[in-house]
Amino acid sequence: MKLEGRTALITGGGRGIGRATAVRLAREGADVAINFKGNAAAAEDAKRLVEGAGGKATLVQGDVSVDGQADEVVKAALSFGGGRLDILVNNAGITRDNLLLRMTAEEWDAVLDLNLRGTFLVTKAAMRPMMKQRAGRIVNVASIAGVVGNAGQANYAAAKAGIIGFTKTVAREMASRNITANAVAPGFVPTDLTDPLPQQVKDDLLKQIPLGRFGTVEDVANAIAFLVSDEASYITGQVLVVDGGMVTA
Ligand code: NAP
Repeated sequence: MKLEGRTALITGGGRGIGRATAVRLAREGADVAINFKGNAAAAEDAKRLVEGAGGKATLVQGDVSVDGQADEVVKAALSFGGGRLDILVNNAGITRDNLLLRMTAEEWDAVLDLNLRGTFLVTKAAMRPMMKQRAGRIVNVASIAGVVGNAGQANYAAAKAGIIGFTKTVAREMASRNITANAVAPGFVPTDLTDPLPQQVKDDLLKQIPLGRFGTVEDVANAIAFLVSDEASYITGQVLVVDGGMVTA
C-alpha cells in the first residue's frame, strides 16, 4: 500500500468526488479526515466506506469558506493524525450557474467564497504543519471550466481558473520544503452537483467526449491518488485534466 501511515484531509469528503477520493486513499493505507458542511448522514456513509476499505476515518464538520472554521477543520485533522497532516485535498465546491447577464453578485460571491477562498484558507492553515514536517502533498480540485471556460459558469470558471493559478504559486512557494501542489481538472462527472442539469445539456455534453462516456468519481479519485503518492514526487504545479478527452478534442 502506497499511503500507509499517512493522514489525509479531504474537504467536502462526504459525497461525490470527495467521498470516492477518501475511499481510494484509504485503500492505499491512508487515514482520512472527512470534512463536510451539513449532510451528516452522507458523511457517516463515507466514514463507513473508508473504514470498510481498511482506513481509519474521522468526520470534521465545518464550512471551509469561513476563516475560523477552516482553521478548526485543519486543527481537527492534525489532532486525528497525531500532529501530522500529509495530504490535503481541497475538493469542496459548489455551482450557482447563470448567464453573465443575469448573474447576481450573490451567485458570484457564493461560488468564489467556497471554491477559491475556501481553498486558500484551508491551504494556508495546513502550510505550517506541512512545512515543519518538510513533507506534504496538496491536490486542488479545479475543473475544465477553469481551463477553457463554460457558458453559464462565469463565477465557477473564474474560481477554478483562480485555483489553477493558486496551485502553481503554492507549488513554487513550497517546493523547497518538499511540498507538492497540483490540481486535477475533471470534465463531466455525474454527482449531486451535476444532477440538476437538464437531460438535453447532458446529452449534448456526452457528444463532446471522445472516450464516449461521462467520468466517474473513481476516475478523478484515481488521478488524485497518483498525485499524492510517492510516484508523483517530481510533479508539482501541474493540472491533470480528467475529462475523457473533452477539452483536447
Ligand atoms: P458534490 O457531490 O455536490 O459534493 C460536494 C461536497 O462539498 C459535499 O461533501 C459537501 O458537503 C461539501 N461542501 C459544500 N459546501 C461546503 C462548505 N462550505 N464547506 C465544506 N464542505 C462543503 O460535488 P462533486 O461533484 O463531488 O464536486 C467535488 C469537486 O469537484 C468540486 O470542487 C467541484 O467543483 C469539482 N468538479 C466536479 C465536477 C463534476 O462534474 N461533478 C466537474 C469538475 C469539477 P455536504 O455533504 O455536507 O453538503
